[in-house]
Amino acid sequence: MKRQIFAPEHDAFRDTVRAFLDREVLPHYAQWEKDGIVSREAWRAAGKQGLLGLAVPEEYGGGGTPDFRYAAVLAEEFTRAGAPGLALGLHNDIIGPYLTGLATEEQRRRWLPGFCDGSLITAIAMTEPGAGSDLQGIRTHAEDRGDHWVLNGSKTFISNGILADLVIVVARTTPEGGAHGLSLLVVERGTAGFERGRNLDKIGQKAQDTAELFFHDVRVPKENLLGELNGAFLHLMTNLAQERLSIAVSAIAAAEHLLEITTEYVKEREAFGRPLATKQHIRFEVAEMATECAVTRTFLDRCIEDHSNGELDAVHASMAKWWATELQKRVADRCLQLHGGYGYMSEYPVARAFTDGRIQTIYGGTTEIMKEIIGRSLLS
Ligand SMILES: Cc1cc2nc3c(=O)[nH]c(=O)nc-3n(C[C@H](O)[C@H](O)[C@H](O)COP(=O)(O)OP(=O)(O)OC[C@H]3O[C@@H](n4cnc5c(N)ncnc54)[C@H](O)[C@@H]3O)c2cc1C
Repeated sequence: MKRQIFAPEHDAFRDTVRAFLDREVLPHYAQWEKDGIVSREAWRAAGKQGLLGLAVPEEYGGGGTPDFRYAAVLAEEFTRAGAPGLALGLHNDIIGPYLTGLATEEQRRRWLPGFCDGSLITAIAMTEPGAGSDLQGIRTHAEDRGDHWVLNGSKTFISNGILADLVIVVARTTPEGGAHGLSLLVVERGTAGFERGRNLDKIGQKAQDTAELFFHDVRVPKENLLGELNGAFLHLMTNLAQERLSIAVSAIAAAEHLLEITTEYVKEREAFGRPLATKQHIRFEVAEMATECAVTRTFLDRCIEDHSNGELDAVHASMAKWWATELQKRVADRCLQLHGGYGYMSEYPVARAFTDGRIQTIYGGTTEIMKEIIGRSLLS
């Protein structure tokens, strides 16, 4: 089915992103995977190309468009290229809204130009060793000392954790407040007492730096409070819908790409004297996956359109996230199987997509948590 959500300007943007990937990302990707981290130059190049801060107002150096279809194009092309390491989606779609939507004018002037030119790489730190799905368990805390906070605690699994220059830290600012005693504090690179731990060794997304962060008596100026004091929970709930949609968009793109690769493979690979594609079982496998992808694509494109019009709610974003990422997981597994032993070889894109994609049902809220959100909305 022809997709109907894009206009010629989105297609032109897609060409720009593809050219950027060919020029600035793919030639270096193998090295970044060995290093466990991408280069800062790639972020600078993305800034120069206008790929950062798509939704940030132009006066701060951004693209000035709230049209989420551009973000969708970016996510789709990076996914198709098998290059999740350069986490532009995290920076633009997940962290961007916090800085544009919650920052004061002074904070915007301080952070947004660097956010858009690639000199300030960002991360968001919610998860702790003892608190992932349940943010009420957050123990990182900040004590009010008049003109500053003193921050103590640790975070784990933080994407861009090593490279980040600005980290939005979710910290407890009111001990007895439960989920409503949390605030967002921005910690800047070089602040005394802010240390990075290990760049964690993952089964996939090898070029993405995912790290532990430690805060020992870190002095955070009061000017670095983002949004409302004790308002983090509400801010997170507001912004998590876009995070979930962004993950879902990359999930359906991954599933479609896997299917493309695999249909080509089974047409060429022969067994028992004929191409695999001539076997009924293989045709049924492909038919089932193609149908599931087509149905999912229709829903996802509707979500992208709704979100571009400011109409996507948290429940539908959760539906998109769990459904598309679980589909991606199933398709990756079945496509790997159809490649036989070659599917298990790291040099094959299907193998890489299998390990790179496995995290999708976990981060940004697990499948189980998505179902909780949806179920609660229907039953309470
Ligand atoms: C590569 C990677 C990148 C990440 N990037 C970031 C980042 O940038 N910033 C950040 O803050 N975090 C990040 N995370 C953390 C991620 O968001 C968490 O791992 C995720 O939210 C799950 O939390 P957890 O690992 O503590 O699992 P847990 O919360 O311990 O969950 C374990 C299992 O129990 C299930 N479960 C939990 N509660 C319920 C329930 N109520 N009902 C049913 N089942 C339940 C979960 O679904 C899961 O299957 C990242 C993680 C990884 C691996």
